[in-house]
Amino acid sequence: MTADHAFVDVVFPVGVEEPLTYRVPAEWRGAASPGTRVLAPLGSRIVTGYIVAERDSAPVAAVKPLAEVLDPEPLLDKHLLALTRWAAEYYLCPWGEVIRTALPPGIDALTRRTASLTSAGRAALTGPAPLRPAERDFLLLLADRESLSLPILRRRPEAVRTIPHLLRRGLIAIHAKTGPARVRPQLCELCQLADGISPDTVRLAARASKQRAILQTLAAAPDGLPRADAAQGNPAALAALIRRGLVTVRSVEVSRDPFRFPVEPVDAPRDLAPAQQEALAGIDDALAARTFQPLLLYGVTGSGKTEVYLQVIARALAQGRQALVLVPEIALTPLAVQRFLARFGGKVAVLHSGLQPGERYDAWRRIRQGGADIVVGARSAVFAPLPRLGIVVVDEEHDPSYKQEESPRYHGRDVAIMRAKLLEAPVVLGSATPSFESYERAQAGRYRLLRLPERIEARPLPEVEIVDLRHVPASDRLLSPPLAAAIAERLRTGEQTLLFLNRRGFSTLLLCEECGATLGCPHCSISLTYHAAHGRLRCHTCDFERRPPAQCPACNSIRMRYLGVGTQQIEAAVRQRFPAARVERLDRDSAGGWRAIEATLARLTAGEIDILVGTQMIGKGHDIPGVTLVGVIAADMALSLPDFRAGERAFAVFTQVVGRAGRGVRPGTAVIQTFNPTHYILQAVQRQDFETLWKAEAPLRQERGLPPFARAVLAIASSPVEQAAEGAATELAKRLTATGVPARALSGPAPAPLYRLRSRYRWHLLVHGQGSRLRARMDEAARQVRRSVFGRNARLDLDVDPASLC
Ligand code: ADP
Ligand code: ZN
Ligand code: ZN
Repeated sequence: MTADHAFVDVVFPVGVEEPLTYRVPAEWRGAASPGTRVLAPLGSRIVTGYIVAERDSAPVAAVKPLAEVLDPEPLLDKHLLALTRWAAEYYLCPWGEVIRTALPPGIDALTRRTASLTSAGRAALTGPAPLRPAERDFLLLLADRESLSLPILRRRPEAVRTIPHLLRRGLIAIHAKTGPARVRPQLCELCQLADGISPDTVRLAARASKQRAILQTLAAAPDGLPRADAAQGNPAALAALIRRGLVTVRSVEVSRDPFRFPVEPVDAPRDLAPAQQEALAGIDDALAARTFQPLLLYGVTGSGKTEVYLQVIARALAQGRQALVLVPEIALTPLAVQRFLARFGGKVAVLHSGLQPGERYDAWRRIRQGGADIVVGARSAVFAPLPRLGIVVVDEEHDPSYKQEESPRYHGRDVAIMRAKLLEAPVVLGSATPSFESYERAQAGRYRLLRLPERIEARPLPEVEIVDLRHVPASDRLLSPPLAAAIAERLRTGEQTLLFLNRRGFSTLLLCEECGATLGCPHCSISLTYHAAHGRLRCHTCDFERRPPAQCPACNSIRMRYLGVGTQQIEAAVRQRFPAARVERLDRDSAGGWRAIEATLARLTAGEIDILVGTQMIGKGHDIPGVTLVGVIAADMALSLPDFRAGERAFAVFTQVVGRAGRGVRPGTAVIQTFNPTHYILQAVQRQDFETLWKAEAPLRQERGLPPFARAVLAIASSPVEQAAEGAATELAKRLTATGVPARALSGPAPAPLYRLRSRYRWHLLVHGQGSRLRARMDEAARQVRRSVFGRNARLDLDVDPASLC
């Protein structure tokens, strides 16, 4: 147990970056141990922080006392404290910010804090003690009642300001309690088209486009949609439809446990194919030796990687250890999650981003108390508090969604590797399209490489046909004759088709034919996308919306033209071409949130959809036997992005979507439409041949000193004032040079490819290179600069191992 230390070091999620030392008042001795949340005075406020260390003496004489210890026992053990500390150092961000990320979201909101009067406070009200008027008012307020909750007090800032002083004098006390999430039945209002109503027959005023859009959405959701999803941001339009009796509403009770998984497992292990057996044996060696060992499980799509994970986890469990499984975006991988639930039943806890804070907190507590042996979750689940963790699996390890694009900008896969290292456990990285980082380390012998070169039961990889759009008339380029014929064939045989395009919306550009102006977002340097369902133009980075103008804002011409194809337009074209087919669309605009996504994928699995159109959402590891055709509508955009990872990304996305075809007994085909038919990436995709890509691109990266052969830190200087952003980037470059960073390690400063984002101008400076000396200098300079102020709202963000350079 902890000794009664007199002082503790506390870190905070916001505000200060370095740990601060506090005195532990006598009544909290013993409870104030590392990993515990506390309330502590910071400036004039009392804020939540996390104890990270204990001390017997204070570095300075006058340290403030803690106001309160919030948790009866630590939320984070030593191991998770060490892990979060490593992440903070590596990603150059405050430790407290990483700890907050590691704890379930909303835990602070679940903590009820109250203030009450002490006996000394009561005495002070009647006695001679000097009190300022605000202090007296506050004590009188407290004297009237048992206690007051701090959120209520927030409406009285003058009272809040007196809290630190009153606390120090012992006149008031602050209490906090984190209870279990309150369990009450959760009701949900489901909207549905009224009986016999069809959006095509209803008569609406010509300008009621919002109402029409709602009817169309509801027509596509026969089981109904939650009210908010049905309204699509237009509650008034929905209300009007309900008033007219076109839409009905009913209340249903929704389960607190959104997964309804069987407590008893329903699925048994399969007999492994020889390559699977070898892979399993390789992982098993590391498991038995109880050593840190990263293993790269590189297996083509449909080669049975998931079955290997399942069986190795069963072995870990048999040894009394626990497993952590990371998946890319959990809402998009319900079928993969189902396989863990089917095999292990109630032993599994799913950390789902769609959970309410209370539900998530309950799941997190169950895990911490040892009530779940397997945790499946996305990026932040890497911090799940499993007490006997023995193996970590990162599925689709190449997936960009493992990188968090806001601070702390950590990479879930890399934190997982560090976690395994701290625990001396194996970590399995699985992919059909490994990241360059992992492949390089496997080549260098730092990771053990395990291969599954063939699909299960020697099923063939999809036959890939590349259609040269240069020889296709412009009017046929959405659905070229070979692709259209292949779809028609699938409709005849009752097989299913996926059509992939990486742009949502209807048209991606509105252009004036008179003066050539394009309609851009007023806040970002990006053109607005036309969304047909709402009849509006929308910015895909900041969600700005407007009605399409009747005239060009630059020259007043009325000759405005929509260009650039998005998924909505493909959907419309497919419906028109194949009116009898059951067509659906899956992208970020699909209404209904993750439940609707899950429902769409369930309908696809059940064979109730003939053609599914979508963005890369449709390519995330689904295993649907009826899909035998995949069409890539336009490959070219992805091949030409201004990013050194563009090729790697394009290869992964195309290989993954193509890999959805022919996973069952019937073989699959893919059709890729492109203006660059001989591009080496498409050639590599054709054979699911990662080595071709590697051999083409690795030497270039090595030459230019880029990852995976070097470390990279992207500094993003941004400001609403154009010169301030540039000035900050230039200043950073100067200081880096002054600390001895060589010029060849600096690329930039230069305007970011996405120059303006949410009204801020952005400048980039990429620092990249090898060797620990450079690394140390970089970290030091970055730390220095991050603390300095650049004036005029300039901000500096540091992105270690950036996933994207936009
Ligand atoms: P991957 O994860 O590599 O894409 P999956 O694990 O999804 O591949 O396997 C593809 C299909 O093959 C799944 O339907 C799975 O149930 C099946 N499968 C996997 N291993 C075996 C096996 N040893 N015997 C029979 N079927 C298997
Ligand atoms: Zn114009
Ligand atoms: Zn915008």
